[in-house]
Amino acid sequence: MARDNIRNFCIIAHIDHGKSTLSDRILELTKSVDERTMEDQILDNMDIERERGITIKARAVTLNYTAKDGKTYEFNLIDTPGHVDFAYEVSRSLAACEGAILVVDATQGVEAQTLANTYMALEHDLELVPILNKIDLPSAHPDEVAQEVEDVIGLPCMDAPRVSAKTGLNVDQVLERVVSDIPAPTGDPDAPLKALIFDSIYDSYKGVIVYIRVFEGTVKPGDTIKMMATGAEFTLVEVGHMGATSLTPCSQLQAGEVGYLTASIKTVQDTRVGDTVTLADRPTSEALPGYRQVKPMVFCGIYPADGAKYPDLKDALEKLQLNDASLTFELETSAALGFGFRCGFLGLLHMEIITERLEREFDLDIITTTPSVRYRLTMTDGTVEMIDNPSSYPDPSNIVKQEEPFVDVHLYTPNDYVGALMDLCQQKRGVLIDMKYLDDVRVDLHYALPLGEIVYDFFDAIKSRSRGYASYDYEFKEYRESDLVKLDFLLNGDPVDALSMIVFRDNAYAKGRRICEKLRDNIPRTLFEIPVQAAIGGKIIARETVKAMRKDVLAKCYGGDISRKKKLLEKQKEGKKKMRQLGSVSLPSEAFTAVLKLD
Ligand code: GDP
Ligand code: MG
Repeated sequence: MARDNIRNFCIIAHIDHGKSTLSDRILELTKSVDERTMEDQILDNMDIERERGITIKARAVTLNYTAKDGKTYEFNLIDTPGHVDFAYEVSRSLAACEGAILVVDATQGVEAQTLANTYMALEHDLELVPILNKIDLPSAHPDEVAQEVEDVIGLPCMDAPRVSAKTGLNVDQVLERVVSDIPAPTGDPDAPLKALIFDSIYDSYKGVIVYIRVFEGTVKPGDTIKMMATGAEFTLVEVGHMGATSLTPCSQLQAGEVGYLTASIKTVQDTRVGDTVTLADRPTSEALPGYRQVKPMVFCGIYPADGAKYPDLKDALEKLQLNDASLTFELETSAALGFGFRCGFLGLLHMEIITERLEREFDLDIITTTPSVRYRLTMTDGTVEMIDNPSSYPDPSNIVKQEEPFVDVHLYTPNDYVGALMDLCQQKRGVLIDMKYLDDVRVDLHYALPLGEIVYDFFDAIKSRSRGYASYDYEFKEYRESDLVKLDFLLNGDPVDALSMIVFRDNAYAKGRRICEKLRDNIPRTLFEIPVQAAIGGKIIARETVKAMRKDVLAKCYGGDISRKKKLLEKQKEGKKKMRQLGSVSLPSEAFTAVLKLD
């Protein structure tokens, strides 16, 4: 394909504004999938992606579009992940494109991710093509939303296509805009190879399939390629284009093109997103800018509910890691929970996705411990320790300085909810940096917040305090000095290491009390009383008691038929399997979850 007829673009939008639906329509209009295989949100392959309506991994697909000018164009549509946890992956996908379609829901207007993604796209000098979506809905007000886009983003929007991704109305206009408004790629096919890795997936037959955008040079099977950040070298087996449902090999990929390569690569660790691919015998002098090694921000322990399933859990994590270079895990043992893993994630959503996949795809019952961020401790001997696990928290008398990660948070909200949200941020130890009116009714609240305070339930809290209208966006800012303590919990006098957490000192008492109450409510009663205590360094700061009593599951089942009783007893047996015997106390996995969900 002549370079002039190539268009590389992505679609950016706030969540639920219709990005996936629009992608589906574009695939249909360009006849890239036959009707038999067409299903909704075809680019979101994982069950979780479809259910939650979010894209977790970047995807790319090559489409052929015959425009109104009679020429055929090669469209490379790159679908980017839609959540703040994956901001780096998004930035690399954007770097692979010349333009972006900006989808704005005409019933909602500009929201947090609309702005955040727009700024990111502008940082990469992408040409933006705004479109107003969902105009089939009676509540759509495209004129006002177009005005809002002009005012808030400064992007001319009055003649933007007004479409319904759902019905397909005017989607053809979007394709014409891609041709007319997004520039063709440039680059010299004879220069040394310079290609950007923007995603990779593991395939059990071909090994890792690496998605690339070629900026300079040409790459073909038989070439020896080199990954510039990791230094790894491979002999190229295949290059080609990604169709919507299959891969199509081709003879070479040239400057300007988007495609895939395979080279019997065993692990995605060798194919870091953002790395530059070049040729081993004729390397480019300079790697593409923007590469960064992604680091996990949130950590927790993951244990099998049934200790015998430890090898299965290990196996499952290894399999997930094949496709996810940002998931880290290492062996961890807990006195309470036995063998398990300390896992690192990009953020809370990433953590939820992994735990959900372990349970669903690998059929494992797991227990997760309280998520923690990574604290920086300076010790009396001058050394600096990074601690993400309460069990490795050192003796406080050896610590001279403690620091915790702070993030920059932007909350975008209608002004009615500003008070409620400021209260929330205050509670979470937020420091207001700035408050800006985006228009008559919308406010951008800019806070610095400790990451540790927002990893649990911040998203839910924002949604409930704003009736779902506010949205947010965050990025790591810096480490700031803090006053932290390790909070321990004792059941029946025995400390349970898996429940320990590192908390801000002023919150320790309230937190200890609340968690003791939660534990009391979630621990099944037994024939004897169970004291539940919270402690800081051996000093008890809160206490509750689980009263003695045997729970009779049949109590409510007078008379009735025997099969119902059997069912209840079966259910109780099931429940027991999920429990952990901690000393003399059984702790159901729900107790661990309940502890996390403190509001
Ligand atoms: P994404 O999160 O941006 O990928 O959004 P989706 O494409 O998953 O769309 C979110 C929801 O909006 C889904 O329930 C879609 O069916 C719906 N939706 C998307 N586009 C339209 C549209 O043009 N009209 C209507 N009525 N609903 C739409
Ligand atoms: Mg989507």
